[in-house]
Amino acid sequence: MTMPLVHAQHGRCQAERCDRTPCFRIEVHDPPGTLIDGKTANACADHLGATVRDLSRWAATATLIEGYIQVCVIDGRPGSADSLPEGTLLPASWPFANIPLI
Ligand SMILES: [Zn+2]
Repeated sequence: MTMPLVHAQHGRCQAERCDRTPCFRIEVHDPPGTLIDGKTANACADHLGATVRDLSRWAATATLIEGYIQVCVIDGRPGSADSLPEGTLLPASWPFANIPLI
C-alpha cells in the first residue's frame, strides 16, 4: 500500500457546492501502487461515500487489471502545515481502506 501525497494546504472538499476542509483522500489505483491519472479526490466526511460511489461507477466502465479504491485520512489539524510554502506536498496521514473494484 502506497502513501499518497496531498497538498499541505488542503483546500476544499471537491464535492459540488461544498467548502468544508477535506478529511479524506480517495484514489483509484490500477495495478496496485499505480495511481490512475485524474482519478483522485479530496472529500469531507459528508461526501466520502458519494465520492467513493462516483469513482466506483467510473471504474465499472473502465478496463482495470487489479483496480481498487484507496481511502486515506488527511491530517487536517489546524496549524500543522500553515508555515509550509504554497503547493508543498505531504504524505496523507494513513490509508485506512482499500476497496476492490474487480
Ligand atoms: Zn464535502
